[in-house]
Amino acid sequence: MKPYDFLIVGSGLFGATFAYLVKQQGKRCLVIDKRSHPGGNIYCEEIESINVHKYGAHIFHTSDKEVWDFVNSIVPFNRYTNCPVAQAPDGKLYNLPFNMNTFYQMWGVKTPGEAYAKLDEQRREAVERMKAEGISEPRNLEEQALTLIGKDIYEQLIKGYTEKQWGRKCSELPAFIIRRLPVRLTFDNNYFNDVYQGIPIGGYNKLIESLLEGVEVKLDTDFFEDRKHWESVADKIVFTGKIDQYYEYKFGKLEYRTVRFETEVLDNPNWQGNAVVNYTASDVPFTRIIEHKHFELFGNAVYDNHKTVISREYSTEWKDGMEPFYPVNDKHNQDIYNKYKDLAKKEENVLFGGRLAEYKYYDMAPIIRQVFDMAENLSIRL
Ligand code: FAD
Ligand code: UDP
Repeated sequence: MKPYDFLIVGSGLFGATFAYLVKQQGKRCLVIDKRSHPGGNIYCEEIESINVHKYGAHIFHTSDKEVWDFVNSIVPFNRYTNCPVAQAPDGKLYNLPFNMNTFYQMWGVKTPGEAYAKLDEQRREAVERMKAEGISEPRNLEEQALTLIGKDIYEQLIKGYTEKQWGRKCSELPAFIIRRLPVRLTFDNNYFNDVYQGIPIGGYNKLIESLLEGVEVKLDTDFFEDRKHWESVADKIVFTGKIDQYYEYKFGKLEYRTVRFETEVLDNPNWQGNAVVNYTASDVPFTRIIEHKHFELFGNAVYDNHKTVISREYSTEWKDGMEPFYPVNDKHNQDIYNKYKDLAKKEENVLFGGRLAEYKYYDMAPIIRQVFDMAENLSIRL
């Protein structure tokens, strides 16, 4: 008999949640992770008593009640609601996502009727220009943004930010990216449309530590450094690392975008007054600044700590040795991924899950839903 029922490669949210479920069933499992800490990209580093989101700001949001109840049964969540503001090239601050506050700040319109008329005028201009060129459907992000929200907002709040984030021109990016952002005729700055939202009280490490309580975890352990050994220790492997690496890049390397963080401690209790401020001008090299304490301290409680920690985010192309963050889901990469996926489907004792193994951008809540689905297929119940 092998020492474990499951070897879980990766202690990110996927691996940790899967380990929690199999532990409940009394199965023997081992989690390995090549990093020196568990939690994957949701891991936080404590600096000046502030939980710093080391791999980028993470806000949990979902309308999936089962997932929300599950995470809250592990650790209660606070009432954080993401309401980013944008510092635009015209020097003004605007509320996001695009809502009545934004329209008032942009055009001085005060009612939904006035805002609708202004939006309609701006959109019509774009639609007519496209029609004159014989274009019926937006072919790219630029055309989509112009027909969705018009030229003023596109130029102040979208173009510079998007081109910095993706390292490509808006006219060369797919339209769907911008459809993720809500457009509302109400004074509602909540970035998400989901029913539930928050940050674990005490930080994401609490969530991960509780999921992994009583589970054997080996850190600083790369599956590929002793692949033969790790393949022999368990009946089944749950692999949450990079799928192209698993298959020794035989169909080629998958590409990613990544983010470089410049983190600074400041002698100021409240530097920008908000967790997230986007910088939408093309001549500002970073995309946004995160002030981490605002994820967990509200109102005047931010003044209880005299210091603050901020991170500037620089979006860059991914190279070997960097953290692979955002999959580039263009046709070239998707075709490569599909070949790996066909191989993965044939595996009998290896299950692939999570954002690297599925080469897909997943928010945290859908990751947990994926784990539930995988567990159910294996007859492991909550
Ligand atoms: P990961 O967290 O990447 O975990 C994979 C783990 O596997 C890592 O710990 C890695 O070290 C380990 N591993 C890989 N290869 C090996 C190997 N060979 N051997 C051993 N271990 C290995 N989601 C939200 O819901 N809200 C947000 O606001 C949000 N913001 C985000 C911001 C950024 C910048 C990024 C990149 C993602 C964001 N997400 C957000 C998504 C969120 O991070 C993911 O949903 C989640 O982390 C996925 O978990 P995972 O376990 O699949 O992957
Ligand atoms: N976006 C923008 N201006 C902003 C914020 C977002 O133009 O101030 C665009 C950008 O193209 C981004 C998309 O909206 O890729 C979706 O935004 P979201 O915050 O969902 O992006 P994420 O960082 O989660 O990929």
